Amino acid sequence: MEKSAVMALVFLAALTSVVIGQETEMKPEETEAWDFVPPKVTPGTEGGAPSDAILLDPTAWQSIEGGENPWDVKDGVMTIKPGTKDIRTKKAFGNIQLHVEWRTPNLGGNSEGQDRGNSGVFLQQFYEVQVLDSHGGITYGNGQAGSIYKQYPPLVNATKPMMEWQTYDIIYSAPQFDKGGNVTSPASMTVLHNGIVVQNNSILKGPSVFIGYPRYQPHGDLPIYLQDHDHKVSYRNIWLREL
Ligand code: MG
Repeated sequence: MEKSAVMALVFLAALTSVVIGQETEMKPEETEAWDFVPPKVTPGTEGGAPSDAILLDPTAWQSIEGGENPWDVKDGVMTIKPGTKDIRTKKAFGNIQLHVEWRTPNLGGNSEGQDRGNSGVFLQQFYEVQVLDSHGGITYGNGQAGSIYKQYPPLVNATKPMMEWQTYDIIYSAPQFDKGGNVTSPASMTVLHNGIVVQNNSILKGPSVFIGYPRYQPHGDLPIYLQDHDHKVSYRNIWLREL
């Protein structure tokens, strides 16, 4: 090493020790913010909603035309009535923590691929976490349960057999746009399927599209959609916390 380089290193080491020496003489609050008192939240039990959650029971949903929830409702469980189209929340949301419980129907032995208990949870109308029986069936990776449809396959396949209740816990950050409609911060999702991380801060490329490249369109808060894909998938105990 050249002499000048050695001298530079010696100088840097001396400077670092001076800075550290100064910091040890400071009070902790000079370099930290520690006066924030986090609000108290009472956790739910057995997947139940915490005290600050918004409950999305069957009355919180409507048809995509704005009419009554057209799906079958019994004992708090909503089951898709094929052909009645998607349902959406009456309220619009941005950044959320979302808990969803879903169950695929008895499919018999004949269904394959995307034809196995297909539905989906659409964050802000456009961004789908796929619902599917991926326990028994085989389909493309970025279209199976726990995928961000057509963008990211799940990290692992955590799917339970059909007719068993399963959970999604989704931490969603909404995309941000400038006044010109350009994306300043893309949407992102972390997803736990039956308590197992299947999406780890996945950065979305845009809306879920079946064919072609996803392209963002600017938007503000939007409803959550549940997909009618002609299969009798059921949902229950849906709640969210706004972040
Ligand atoms: Mg789907």
